[in-house]
This record gives sequence, C-alpha cells and structure tokens, in this order.
Amino acid sequence: MARFIFITGGVVSSLGKGLASAALGALLQARGYTVRLRKLDPYLNVDPGTMSPFEHGEVFVTDDGAETDLDLGHYERFTGVAARMSDSISSGRVYSTVLEKERRGDYLGKTIQVIPHVTNEIKDFIRIGEDEVDFMLCEIGGTVGDIEGLPFFEAIRQFAQDKARGQCIFMHLTLLPYLAASGELKTKPTQHSVKELRSIGLAPDILVCRSEHPIPEREREKIGLFCNVRKDAVIAAYDLKSIYEAPLAYHAQGLDQAVLDAFGISPAPKPDLTIWHDVADRIHNPEGEVRVAIVGKYTQLEDAYKSIAEALTHGGMANRVKVRIDWVDAELFDRADAAPYLEGFHAILVPGGFGERGTEGKIKAAQFAREKRVPYLGICLGMQMAVIEAARNVAGLTTAGSEEFDHEAGVKRFEPVVYHLKEWVQGNQTVARKQGDAKGGTMRLGSYDAVLRDGSRVADIYGGTAIEERHRHRYEVDTKYRDKLEAAGLCFTGMSPDGKLPEIVEWTDHPWFIGVQFHPELKSKPFAPHPLFADFVRAAVENSRLV
Ligand code: GLN
Repeated sequence: MARFIFITGGVVSSLGKGLASAALGALLQARGYTVRLRKLDPYLNVDPGTMSPFEHGEVFVTDDGAETDLDLGHYERFTGVAARMSDSISSGRVYSTVLEKERRGDYLGKTIQVIPHVTNEIKDFIRIGEDEVDFMLCEIGGTVGDIEGLPFFEAIRQFAQDKARGQCIFMHLTLLPYLAASGELKTKPTQHSVKELRSIGLAPDILVCRSEHPIPEREREKIGLFCNVRKDAVIAAYDLKSIYEAPLAYHAQGLDQAVLDAFGISPAPKPDLTIWHDVADRIHNPEGEVRVAIVGKYTQLEDAYKSIAEALTHGGMANRVKVRIDWVDAELFDRADAAPYLEGFHAILVPGGFGERGTEGKIKAAQFAREKRVPYLGICLGMQMAVIEAARNVAGLTTAGSEEFDHEAGVKRFEPVVYHLKEWVQGNQTVARKQGDAKGGTMRLGSYDAVLRDGSRVADIYGGTAIEERHRHRYEVDTKYRDKLEAAGLCFTGMSPDGKLPEIVEWTDHPWFIGVQFHPELKSKPFAPHPLFADFVRAAVENSRLV
C-alpha cells in the first residue's frame, strides 16, 4: 500500500512545484523505493490538449495517449517512470465524469454536490494503482486560495483522514521574498499561505521555501515556529543553473530525509545518487558548445517546446557539449530569404505545430538545411514540412502542401502530399475519425510501433529496426507520393507495421537530415538521452568543426 505525498503551492505561482515533486521522486528512487507522480489541475479544460501552447506550455503525451500537463514531462525525465492517462486529471475531467454519471442515473434520487460527489471522484482518481508503488506523489496545480482549487484541497484532506494515521503527508512550496532596501528575507507571505492552508484543514509537514538568498538559521527557526513545522522540515530551495541539479540540491538541503522522517521511516535507507552526480558532471563540464536553431511558431514562450529543449540538453550531455538553443520565429521569413536568419547554426530543428501560420518559413528552413548540408531534425509538422519541401523543390510537385492548411483556409490550393488521416490501426483495432470531428482528443495519440529499414541511418542510430514512439497529429504523409519522393532521394526509412503510414524520412545523401512523424523528445531522459537527439547533436558537433 502506497504512502502518499501531497504537494501544494502558495504565495505565487511558478515556484517550481513540478520540479520539486519530480526531484523528490528521483530521491526516493535513489533510496530504493518505487514511485509514481500525479498532477491534479484545477482548470476546467477536460485536458490541456485544447489549450494554446502560448498560455500553458507544451502538451505532454503519454504512451497510452493522454494529452497532459507539461509537469508530467518533468516527472518522467527525473524518474524514468512512464506516465499514464491516470496520472493527470483536471476539474474539467472530474466534472464531466460526475455529470455523465448523473445523466446515466448513477446517483438517482440524490442531489449532486461538490462534497461528496466531486471530492469522491477526485479521491477515486488518487487511489488508482495505489498497490503498485511505495510512494505516490500528487501535485495540486495552482496556488492555495484559488477558488477552483478548493475541491482538490478538500479531497486530499478527506483522503488523509480515510487513510491510516501517518500514511499521508503534506508538502507546501512557498516563496521568501527579499527586500533589498532592508536586506531582509520576508517570511510573512509564507506564514499567511500556511494559515490559508490550515483554514481548510491542511497542516503542512514539510515546507519548501524558494529564495534567491541564503536563508539564515534563525529565519528557518522562525518559519518553523510560526508555521508549526519542524525546523528540519523547513527546506531551502535556491535558484539552480540547471534543473538537473535539483535532486542533489534538495538532497543537500535534507528534503528526502525530512520526508522519510515525516513518515517515521527509520532507519532511512542510504541513497545512491551516482546517476545524478554523473548528470551534474556532464552539465557542468562540457567540452564545447554547439548552436541549434529551433524554427517554430511559439518562440516567445520556451515552455511551448519544453521537452524538445530538454531532449537537446540531454543530447548535449551524451556528447559532453553545451547545446545553445536559439528560438527563431518561422514567420520572419515566410516571405523573405531564410539564409540571414539561419546562417551560423550548427543544426536546425523544426518542431511540431498546428495551423498554417509560419509554415512557408519552416519549408524554407528545411530547404536551407538540405541545400547547405546542415543537420536537420524535423519533428511531426517539421517532418511534414521537409516532405513538402522535397516534393516542391526536388520531385517537381510544385503545388505540394498539406490538407491541414486548405481545411483551415476553406479553399483547395495544394496537392495533398500531407493528407487528413481518417482511419488507422491501433493495436488490433481500427480507429476512425471524420473531418470536422470535435477538436479535443481526436488525434492519432500515444505510442505506436514503427519498423525501420535495415541498414538505414535511423536503424543504426536506434540500434535496431523495431521502435515505439509517441504520436500527436491528425495529418500524415501520403504513401501515394513515396516512389516520386524516393526517386528524388528522400527515403521512407520508417513505416507503421502495416506499411501504410510513413514514420521516418531521410535524405540519404545528406550529412544528417531526418524527419520523424512522432515525438522522440517525449521519451528522452538526462540519464538516458534519446538516440535521435544524441546523434543529432553529434552531427551538430561534427558540423561545427567544419565551419
Ligand atoms: N498539425 C500537424 C498534424 O496534425 C502536425 C502536428 C504536430 O506537429 N504535432 O498532423
């Protein structure tokens, strides 16, 4: 039976709750325990799939096809435990389930209320798989005091009451602001945040205090005293150069020890932090630097491509180099020459995306990379753009485009080299979609097998010909054009097992040009960099030696 750790935040948002949760998960693993991490989000979207990456950052896709919060990406990158659909829930999902049950007549005769119907639904969710792990870490999105968060706070309060004493603990993250004028760290916002938490029946066992300045011992004592938390359980969280220092930094501050103490686990098993020391060493002691351009649309908010940036960092770690990422807005050269924007980079990556805006720029980026022999990695939309570029400029299909853009514009302008996929096979089932279906959850989502061509560059990179990768898209390269494109030199070296869906294309006469229909970035870890990213960065290093 799992022990539960509930993680909440106060004072301000964006304190790094997800990161603290992920790092704690890694530390518990280092002590020999099994863990699972969950995110409970108070917003009313059923899932983040329909939210703009500008607002909410990237959508993280799980193997079982859930569109989830980007914090699940942190969880996976730190623990290596593949997240599942049942590790992410929002108020929207909870309410829609409760309302569905109401319509079905499951609660016949009853008045449906937040307590107990909504809170019960949340508690049932938290319980899923509780027998599988030693520790279940549940992060509540948002900040204490938010109206939307109340049912979640109430549910975890009840949950701890339902369980045996000592089976659940509460960890709260706050901020200690620094007043430069008086040279002081202020503890009052933390006190108020804990007061708010206590007013809804939750007493934190651990306080994690974010601070830009060292927290003096007497301030730690004061926080403990005023917030009714043991002094050793007031943990400092300082800014870090790299997020991957977090496990070692939290360990140095005593977080994992405080958690085990709070559960009364004594003696605590000794931690083995070898992998995190190796990760830190690779980050802090690079032997060079490469510059990679990410040519995208959501370049103002780096969180929109979070997993890609992380996977590139991992690729750098595999090669012991620092990867410097420049975010290049594809729209800048939709109608202009791309060269001035792309010269000087050692590699170019075109990530996934939706909609036509910026796609002509992305096509030019693919052309630039092909002609100038710069390593290119195209992911999802980035692969589709590379195929369209090849079709237009090498295979002579001058009007090649994607049906996605014609659908959006409501006019037929392009030869549909990339078309709307309406039926495909998942496992041993056929999935069907219609044009105009609801937007949420209607894509080809989650993990699918692919078969790689023997002797191809990708088979070499993966070290085998059978792979599984995660997908999130509606459109697909049409195999009708395969012969023409292959004759032009763009080879289809990865296909779905039934041979119908192109998964990987590559220019074989190019130093490194690969497009993938899936999202390899979602499976990369600092201690196990994804082979495609490791090899892409290796190619960038090689290219940097030429220029
Ligand atoms: N918009 C494209 C599609 O739906 C690509 C999606 C993506 O890049 N994730 O097929």
